[in-house]
Amino acid sequence: MKIQTTNNLCYRVDTNSNVIIWNRLYGNPLFINKEKLNLLLTNNFKSFHHDEIEILEKHQILLPEYKDNSESYYKSIDNNHYINYSKLQQVNSLMIELTNLCNFECSYCMHKKVTGKKLNTLSINDIKKSIHQINNLFAGNQKLPYKITFTGGEPLLKWNNIKRVVEFLNKTTGYPIKYRILTNGSLIDENIAFFLKNNDFTVHLSIDGIDSVHNNNRPMINNNSYQCVKNGISILNKYDIDIGSVGVTITNNNINHINNSFIDYIKNCGVKHCSIEPDLTARIDYISIDKLAQKLVNIMLYAKQKDIIVKGFWNKPYVLMFQEVNENEKRISWCGATSGVGLVISSNAKWKVCPYLPFEIGNLDDDMDTIITNWSKWALSYKKKQRNKCNGCLIESFCMGGCIVNQYYEGVTDFRCELYNKAFNILIDETLKTNTFVNA
Ligand code: SF4
Ligand code: SF4
Repeated sequence: MKIQTTNNLCYRVDTNSNVIIWNRLYGNPLFINKEKLNLLLTNNFKSFHHDEIEILEKHQILLPEYKDNSESYYKSIDNNHYINYSKLQQVNSLMIELTNLCNFECSYCMHKKVTGKKLNTLSINDIKKSIHQINNLFAGNQKLPYKITFTGGEPLLKWNNIKRVVEFLNKTTGYPIKYRILTNGSLIDENIAFFLKNNDFTVHLSIDGIDSVHNNNRPMINNNSYQCVKNGISILNKYDIDIGSVGVTITNNNINHINNSFIDYIKNCGVKHCSIEPDLTARIDYISIDKLAQKLVNIMLYAKQKDIIVKGFWNKPYVLMFQEVNENEKRISWCGATSGVGLVISSNAKWKVCPYLPFEIGNLDDDMDTIITNWSKWALSYKKKQRNKCNGCLIESFCMGGCIVNQYYEGVTDFRCELYNKAFNILIDETLKTNTFVNA
């Protein structure tokens, strides 16, 4: 059978002539030398050993001459976005947005900007109703444990409801549940910590810097937000509660303060995972995109030395590229909004795919078929629209449009495309230096 080099071949060469190659749509890169690259570029495989050909085929670099893997790739993505009932049986995660009330007034709050200013709180009856609906989906899913995440606004403002829901779930469900809470951390006290520990919660917090830097980015109504969060962290540590990750939002205000010292600080707080994300709602213009990308990578590499994994949307395309996927299991999504593995019940009692998108896929009284159909139609039309924009982008299949939220803010989408591409290239250069994936 005749073979050819894929049209989607991408490569990067360093000054020592080390080369990394990958198929733009399939990822799973390979390290080769420059001589081999030249042979691939000229479709000359005579000197390749049989084993090498097999590896190159496995990585979608060499293909049978008849095969157009772009076509089959897009077709399979479209098929995968037709979410039918059996597809939705993969749902194993429910996010409960207890309220959109908050005791902080962060400048970049996506709730205020995207989902409106009307204040909503879920009633216990609505939460139970949503759990009842999703139980039918959980029942067909073997991906245990099921994940229940409490979020807001600030979910701890509705602490009694969290307790009631957890007690209800522990009493009524026969399956294992992993509980998570996304909180600003300011309201954690000993009673709360005791309950979280007893129910094996993972706590995800947000810190935007030390002291006044945090206070500026995340001001608290009538209080010192940094001191309150610091106090919350010491209580979590006292009860040995798993801090799943710390989220840091970078804005023009704190860009100079998120650095190695900040990583040292969160290390002392017992943090092992950190998400560092430029504001999704506005461009960072205090430094150039080049410098921002380099800075984020430098922090990531420093954190790695301290055993902290730094993640962000800016390094996600790089991380996804290294995930091996085979012909039948292509990456179909960037996040839960289009993947079909999680549902959100929002504070106004609507089903959603992401708490920060205004798009709703149903009411609590709708049957699951209606919800599934709405979700499926939306995911498919979003993907088709996005493809026109992303077709040919260096990181197309590892990004696929990225976070949908930033598309609601003027001028942010292009900024983030440039940032993702720049960070990706810097990370590939780092990979060539070390000959390995640099975010493990
Ligand atoms: S970086 Fe931009 S153009 Fe490229 S895949 Fe992502 S959203 Fe699309
Ligand atoms: S759209 Fe953005 S915020 Fe929403 S789930 Fe996807 S990545 Fe997360």
